[in-house]
Amino acid sequence: MGTPVTLIPGDGIGPGIADATVRLLAAAGADIAWDVRLAGRAALSAHRDPIPDSTLDAIRRTRVALKGPLETPIGEGYRSINVALRKTFDLYANVRPAHVIVRGGRFDRVDIVLVRENTEGLYVGAEHYIKVGDDPRAAAESMAIITRAGSERVIRYAFEYALRHGRRKVTLVHKANILKFSQGLFLEVGRQVAREYESRGIAFEDKIVDAMAMNLVLRPEQYDVVVTTNMFGDILSDEISGLVGGLGLAPGANIGTHAAIFEAVHGTAPDLAGKGVANPAALIFAACMMLDHLNDTARADRIRAAVETTIRDGRHVTPDLGGTATTDQFTDAVIARLHPSTREAAAD
Ligand code: NAD
Repeated sequence: MGTPVTLIPGDGIGPGIADATVRLLAAAGADIAWDVRLAGRAALSAHRDPIPDSTLDAIRRTRVALKGPLETPIGEGYRSINVALRKTFDLYANVRPAHVIVRGGRFDRVDIVLVRENTEGLYVGAEHYIKVGDDPRAAAESMAIITRAGSERVIRYAFEYALRHGRRKVTLVHKANILKFSQGLFLEVGRQVAREYESRGIAFEDKIVDAMAMNLVLRPEQYDVVVTTNMFGDILSDEISGLVGGLGLAPGANIGTHAAIFEAVHGTAPDLAGKGVANPAALIFAACMMLDHLNDTARADRIRAAVETTIRDGRHVTPDLGGTATTDQFTDAVIARLHPSTREAAAD
């Protein structure tokens, strides 16, 4: 019996790229017992709820999930799927690695892992209107909640990640020059935690977010692990994805103390749904992060290397990367590279 993992294939291109990912992991010998569950549009049709309790219960049981993209139904009464998952499982760290796969572009040496605080800051949803005179919406107020404990756990996660993955520096991004209390607390905790890791070879620096946004497009190769608060992380992680070729190849992990959910950063790509030509690489990379999490790092490295050489080779890539291959043809080419004895790999 393999390691139990909840699989949410998702909507749109989700089922196709999830099939490809499951097939590739099986070919790589990963011993996983998939517990397939619904969420999103598919769950709304079947259970009248985009995030049914049966799916939440499954994640509670397996504590690890691989999730395809989900269509969040717009309309009153529906729970936001991502918010429900983050809240239910207190997924406090959103981890998004980005590195260049095909060299020859403007940024050849980008290799950044952004760790975004996922539960606090401006996104806690503490907002309200203020009535002035006759205008009930004369002003609006949003609160950014930063706690010492919330800051410490995500900053510590970033340092531990750096240690585990042989990285050398953590850059903490903030706006403490203006928001002296909330952002100041995040920075204060960062400096305290950093002291513990100095002797373990992890350097620390802090950067103000506006300067960081500029430095990322001027000299992104100087950054290694980056940790920041919720909204800055939301924005900077997309900027970083853009440096290495967009969201199409970007995986993400949502880490909590009791559960972890791995996903592709992209959405359901309605324009490609049902055509069999979506690129499964982002979900495959997310599955590799999941294998890392399950301490199966050697296998994850082997799969990542096979995907990257297939992409660099260019003969079997999907249309988004300039090729003509289908999702299945790309996956077959990656599988052939996992087993170099096959003719496909021998021809290289
Ligand atoms: P999208 O990421 O689905 O698509 C943006 C563009 O990227 C499209 O042109 C699409 O064809 C392309 N693309 C995305 N993934 C691709 C892949 N694997 N291979 C090839 N091309 C790919 O973004 P959108 O159109 O803004 O959103 C569509 C739906 O997805 C919405 O319902 C949105 O709510 C949902 N969404 C879900 C998640 C998630 O579940 N994590 C994330 C983002 C968007």
